[in-house]
Amino acid sequence: MFNKRIKIKDLLASDKANYQATAMGWVRTFRNNQFIALNDGSTNNNVQIVATLGEFDEAILKRITTGACIKATGEVIPSLGKGQKVELKATAIEILGDSDSEKFPLQPKKHSLEFLREIAHLRFRTNTFGAVFRVRHSLAFAVHKFFNDKGFVYLHTPIITASDAEGAGEMFKVTSLPLDGTAPKNDDGSINFKEDFFGRSTNLTVSGQLEGELAAMAFSDIYTFGPTFRAENSNTTRHLAEFWMIEPEMAFYDLEDNANLAEEFIKYIIKYSMDNNAEDLEFLAQRLADEEKQKPQNDRSEMGLLEKLKFVVENNFERLTYTEAIDILKESNHNKKKKFQYLIEGWGTDLQSEHERYLVEKHFKKPVILTDYPKEIKSFYMRQNDDGKTVAAMDILAPGIGEIVGGSQREERMDKLTQRMQEMNVPADELWWYLDTRRFGACPHAGFGLGFERLVQFVTGMGNIRDVIPFPRYPKSAEF
Ligand code: ATP
Ligand code: MG
Repeated sequence: MFNKRIKIKDLLASDKANYQATAMGWVRTFRNNQFIALNDGSTNNNVQIVATLGEFDEAILKRITTGACIKATGEVIPSLGKGQKVELKATAIEILGDSDSEKFPLQPKKHSLEFLREIAHLRFRTNTFGAVFRVRHSLAFAVHKFFNDKGFVYLHTPIITASDAEGAGEMFKVTSLPLDGTAPKNDDGSINFKEDFFGRSTNLTVSGQLEGELAAMAFSDIYTFGPTFRAENSNTTRHLAEFWMIEPEMAFYDLEDNANLAEEFIKYIIKYSMDNNAEDLEFLAQRLADEEKQKPQNDRSEMGLLEKLKFVVENNFERLTYTEAIDILKESNHNKKKKFQYLIEGWGTDLQSEHERYLVEKHFKKPVILTDYPKEIKSFYMRQNDDGKTVAAMDILAPGIGEIVGGSQREERMDKLTQRMQEMNVPADELWWYLDTRRFGACPHAGFGLGFERLVQFVTGMGNIRDVIPFPRYPKSAEF
């Protein structure tokens, strides 16, 4: 039975010694033909396996190479070396999988993140990615725990959708029609999607929100947590073509309730990770500190990773309106000295990420919740404020990342909603099902979307979003 093994994390966690155990894992290094550093992914720490000189065949020792998978059985003994309390003195070593050290791309040395992205199928076996993906797991678990403990229903919204009306971004088309020019056509030469698999044109979802709202009108509180897709050609460190989004939707919530929930949620999951990933976060903090040392003094962040996380958990987010933010930006020395690429001249334009970062990193030095944006730059479903100019929208901006949450109180008044749809050319007939919730028992409600990878970036301190999802999809890249 293979399962009679001890995970390396458990083996190292206890002071207990003088018992028989079997460990399995992948060889990180093999020193002096004697000391194997073995890792099984349960922790970044390796267990030292001692293969006492003279006790093993040369033929076996030769096959203990970096990357090889082995099974080691022996006695757990107090360690003489420093850095670990116990080690395993092997009496038997079995090679489960050889690894040709000449060809194995991961060497026991520092590799660049760019190089590791090219071998994403192996990068889990490095300390950095081991830590990142264990933290990602914890954060995902914490998302479910948070909402489950609050009585939210986890709703699976469709990944293939017919609605392209939400307008959150460019969509990927889903079709089973032939692409060789023989697809059925309409009289005007356009593709006849009535002949397609679903009898209509379909896409990959950009958001589960509209469907989420339908369920909130029955369960009161729901959340989604699933993949979303955007065919936007953004080659930034914050955009992916496939990313995971968390979208809670709550009946009987106004904008303030919505902001309160989002703030509580973000703090909760960060705290959860601090409590459950201490070792991995310390490793990532050190990695980030080393990376920061390479930067010019001016570009370095004032806080280390752990300090920053603690700060976010312990302090209130700054809340202000879009209008107040514009005033701050307009009056800032940065603007007056024309240091913004896009200068702030007046009210009404969308904020660029340089403006968001100025507010968060230079002005307030903490996460910021911006509310009440001009209706022209926001979606049709956001609730119109009495001033006739703004909507009850909120974005949460985080240091180093920019926008992490986008949300709003939703427009529950049928007349206002359909008027806005008309103005923005959103086809009401296609969204008949969405409008039905306003016909039958409408209520004030609100929700938000949080990009999971941006949160993972924030917690792990990884600079590029491509390094916090196992197999990133972005323009010109869908390897693995
Ligand atoms: P941005 O201005 O950064 O492009 P957005 O306004 O398009 O964001 P929303 O449509 O409000 O974003 O989506 C909700 C959340 O999803 C965002 O706050 C962000 O955290 C995340 N998000 C949006 N687009 C992407 C993407 N391409 N890759 C990863 N996360 C994303
Ligand atoms: Mg966008």
